[in-house]
Amino acid sequence: MTTTDEPTTGTAPTTQAVPAASVDERQARQVAEAAREADWRQPSFGKELFLGRLRLDLIDPLPVPDPERAERAEAFLGRLRDFASTVDGARIEREARIPDEVLRGLADLKAFGMKIDEKYGGLGLTNLHYCKALTLIGSANPSIGALLSAHQSIGVPQPLKLFGNDEQKQRFLPRLAAGEVSAFLLTEPDVGSDPARLSTVATPVEGGYRLDGVKLWATNGTLATLLVVMAQVPKSEGHRGGITAFVVEADSPGVTIERRNAFMGLRGLENSVTRFHDVFVPEANVIGREGLGLKIALTTLNTGRLSLPAMCVGAGKWCLAVARQWAAERVQWGLPVAKHEAVAKKLAFIAATTYGLEAMLDLCCLLADDERNDIRIEAALVKLYGSEMAWLMADELIQIRGGRGYETADSLAARGERAINAEQILRDLRINRIFEGSTEIMHLFIAREAVDAHLSVAGDIIDPDATLRRKARAGAKAGAFYARWLPTLTVGRGQNPGAFGEYGPLAAHMRYVERASRKLARETFYAMARWQGKLERKQGFLGRVVDIGAELFAMSAACVRARAEAGGPDGAAGRELADVFCRQARLRAEALFDALWDNTDAVDVAAARRVVDGRYAFVEEGVLPIPDEGPWVAPWVPGPSTVEDVRRRYR
Ligand SMILES: Cc1cc2nc3c(=O)[nH]c(=O)nc-3n(C[C@H](O)[C@H](O)[C@H](O)COP(=O)(O)OP(=O)(O)OC[C@H]3O[C@@H](n4cnc5c(N)ncnc54)[C@H](O)[C@@H]3O)c2cc1C
Repeated sequence: MTTTDEPTTGTAPTTQAVPAASVDERQARQVAEAAREADWRQPSFGKELFLGRLRLDLIDPLPVPDPERAERAEAFLGRLRDFASTVDGARIEREARIPDEVLRGLADLKAFGMKIDEKYGGLGLTNLHYCKALTLIGSANPSIGALLSAHQSIGVPQPLKLFGNDEQKQRFLPRLAAGEVSAFLLTEPDVGSDPARLSTVATPVEGGYRLDGVKLWATNGTLATLLVVMAQVPKSEGHRGGITAFVVEADSPGVTIERRNAFMGLRGLENSVTRFHDVFVPEANVIGREGLGLKIALTTLNTGRLSLPAMCVGAGKWCLAVARQWAAERVQWGLPVAKHEAVAKKLAFIAATTYGLEAMLDLCCLLADDERNDIRIEAALVKLYGSEMAWLMADELIQIRGGRGYETADSLAARGERAINAEQILRDLRINRIFEGSTEIMHLFIAREAVDAHLSVAGDIIDPDATLRRKARAGAKAGAFYARWLPTLTVGRGQNPGAFGEYGPLAAHMRYVERASRKLARETFYAMARWQGKLERKQGFLGRVVDIGAELFAMSAACVRARAEAGGPDGAAGRELADVFCRQARLRAEALFDALWDNTDAVDVAAARRVVDGRYAFVEEGVLPIPDEGPWVAPWVPGPSTVEDVRRRYR
């Protein structure tokens, strides 16, 4: 990853490019660690699961939403459904733009205020109904879901709700509830997964700060009038400094929207490159306080992460509807393709996974609304699992549709066939595995929380900076902890053939989850003992631990859902689907357990080193060389913008 001094478009060529912040691995980790919420004030089903304790009492029975609030939310969902059915999703795809009238319609419905409290003019929806709304509107066109989600899950409303003061809430939230759009700006050309390299600066001045920097890939950036911007405040007298979150008026002098970016999917996304040159931000616009920026970003994402799987659930439902109807209708080799086993397996996978994923998401939402549990692990798990599974489901749908799966909706319609946009859904879904925490980063984030109990007792043993004395003290403490904890992992309810009878035919699955959870904790302990501080580098191992945890959480959620809905009209069908889902999930979990110790991780790491060294470059021969002009990462140059502003205002 090299950068050159060549300036990016829109920069003043007379000034020097800002060099990438020089941050070594340890500093990068320290920044992330400092931003982490270290406390666990409330119980967490996910944390307990990784420690080998299946605390079903935390998730079953499911919390019940307030009936009056639920009724109002249902009425809104009805209006949203009517509106969504009038939206021409294909036009958005064709024109790569959500039309103004759609944005105005959403504003009239108060869709920009779904998560904003009623006292600020919003609808005050629960997480459950907010996510149902995103699932629904995302099925009209996923770019609309992404717009509304970026606006209120990571944009100004959520950080203000959690960390803003009353004055800020009164000043900004009514504007947003009424239809002004917001965006969240953390990423920079040189800042992706690692925020320690942040180079946008907020310099303290009389009454506030002066902001300078360039932000990349801000969803809603071209449309937004209010931005959450993360910037470094230099340490100085009276300023503790550090990464800080600001609310910035996008129409302030010095803010230029330099580009609208285009992507593989989500063609309607209004995503920007935004330049700040000497932009004044009043002191009153600091969210929380100086230095709290990353903590705010991470805490915001605790529930903010739920909106992305809401769109994945929507994709699953849509894939299922297409797959079911098409596979029953399409006849090849004398049978509807649904009856060929290879296709049947895909149909079962899509149906069961959609059921399981929705169970997981609804459970997370209900727990978040109930506010009695810490859901940071569960929300991260459903983001990770949802984005991976939705991608697989869309891929399987394309396979089931055969050549038509690869054909665009417009092309199908032009030949007189039904305009099914499966290839678009696949493209639209792909980004979910990258943004709001890539799969690789989610693995590390969840693993960090999952092994937290170990780290908190063994912290000094594995800390390379700790003195021998501190290591010895930590060793004694760890010994006492493990002496108490390990025996609890050898026996449990899951070994009792009659246990979990309240789940009826699904009891065997709950017994498996209980046993597997203890096994997972034991394996994590062995890994900790074997690798100690080096465990954090064993990303293959940690990724599998997390993926097993995700399967076990999903199985638990599916069984709890089936039990809760047992008396309802679809009770029996739901139980069947939960059973199919658990059988599939169990096989995936078992394969992951096998791979914990039997894998090519070390071989791959060594091979990758040789790949990067060029030893295998001969394999690349036989095709044209890749483009070699331009830097891999464009550096940014401070100064006023030299390009035309491309902001968009819809009213
Ligand atoms: C369509 C779109 C919308 C976006 N919207 C926003 C937005 O609204 N606001 C905003 O601030 N940002 C936004 N982003 C940025 C997005 O959050 C980042 O792309 C994401 O954080 C990943 O950063 P990166 O692309 O620089 O990848 P990099 O950090 O460069 O990572 C490259 C690869 O390395 C992996 N990797 C990196 N570090 C590690 C590690 N320690 N261990 C293992 N693997 C690692 C990554 O997972 C990835 O596979 C958006 C991006 C896109 C494409």
